[in-house]
Amino acid sequence: MLHIAVFGNSKWSLLMKDILEKEYSDLLIQDGKEGIIVDALVVLGAPQNDSEISVREFAQRYADGKMIAIIIPKEYYIHHNNLVLAFLRSGIDINDIYDGIRLNDRVRTIPKLVAGLITPTLSDPYLSYLEFHVADHCNLNCKYCTHYSPLVTEPVFTDYEQFSSDLRQLKKYIPDIGIIRILGGEPLLNPDLGKFIALTRALYPASIITVVTNGLLIQQMSDDLLALMRDKMAFIHISFYPSLQEKIEEIKRFLYEQRIPYTITEMTTKFNKTQTLTPNTDEDFFYSCFQASCTCLQNGKLAPCYAPFTTKYFNAAFSKELPTDEGIDLYDDELTLIDLKTALLRPMQRCQYCVSGDPYPWEIVGKHSVLEDWVVDFG
Ligand code: SF4
Ligand code: SF4
Repeated sequence: MLHIAVFGNSKWSLLMKDILEKEYSDLLIQDGKEGIIVDALVVLGAPQNDSEISVREFAQRYADGKMIAIIIPKEYYIHHNNLVLAFLRSGIDINDIYDGIRLNDRVRTIPKLVAGLITPTLSDPYLSYLEFHVADHCNLNCKYCTHYSPLVTEPVFTDYEQFSSDLRQLKKYIPDIGIIRILGGEPLLNPDLGKFIALTRALYPASIITVVTNGLLIQQMSDDLLALMRDKMAFIHISFYPSLQEKIEEIKRFLYEQRIPYTITEMTTKFNKTQTLTPNTDEDFFYSCFQASCTCLQNGKLAPCYAPFTTKYFNAAFSKELPTDEGIDLYDDELTLIDLKTALLRPMQRCQYCVSGDPYPWEIVGKHSVLEDWVVDFG
């Protein structure tokens, strides 16, 4: 028998374990292959019972040859890429990390899909997460904004035609995405936001689509945009900063009355300053960077995070030459799915200029910041 593990302890992980050990294992045995036993559920925190083990314990059993693979159910969406990076960091071979199919009742009744229940993550035409900007500038301008929005001197909206072409090009490689987040800057500043949402829904009918906003413009959203969001099942996610504190209950009521589902972060009172001008050659930083799974699409390229596309604003503001414009060229004729997914799991040159940094009180910097506001090694 093949001894493997499933990530997580949610109902999806338990369902995946059940299908693997019953339907899928039987199919393998009928096919003259070895069956499957799921030895453990791998959890990020402390194991709560005998069926759970930590990532470290899994890595040890894998190194000892006692387990040969890990399956990550697709329902972990936003965490999926971070999990893959964490397993790579623990010494698990990328070819032994598998994605599950989307688990829902309809899929479970279709035997031919059950036969393709798991796919090595590198050859799975699926991304758990994608984000894209519709505006690079913002109406809040927070100090230490990791997308450099306060350094964007003029309004910069994403070109719809270019984006439309890019998303269609991406779909040739990646026909399914778990969660797609539309952000910026402040996405509600873009008068064409509805067009971006409609196109995204048309190309990715199964994805969760969320508009990530600081909330300041929510009550000014047009009736047309609200109706389109209901129709296209697009949600709102509010990044909650102190400037919204007095209006937050009103905004929640507004979204409830408009029947727009929403989520809200805890109020952010601190930001980490995460940039350095002194190159850091420790590649390990990338594998533990939570933003390394914020796969970002812009101008025909895909990158592990937004930094290659927004660092130009930092360079222009302070006459620096940090790496920009890295990423995977979606229009490269030689590009394969495996190339694309492999590149998303590798550090970029730009990663050398990130550090974990220290927390500073959140505050608005406006459009007049100085270098010291952005880098840890100033002076
Ligand atoms: S709200 Fe603040 S952190 Fe978010 S994009 Fe705007 S300036 Fe950046
Ligand atoms: S540039 Fe690299 S290290 Fe910096 S936030 Fe992006 S993925 Fe993380």
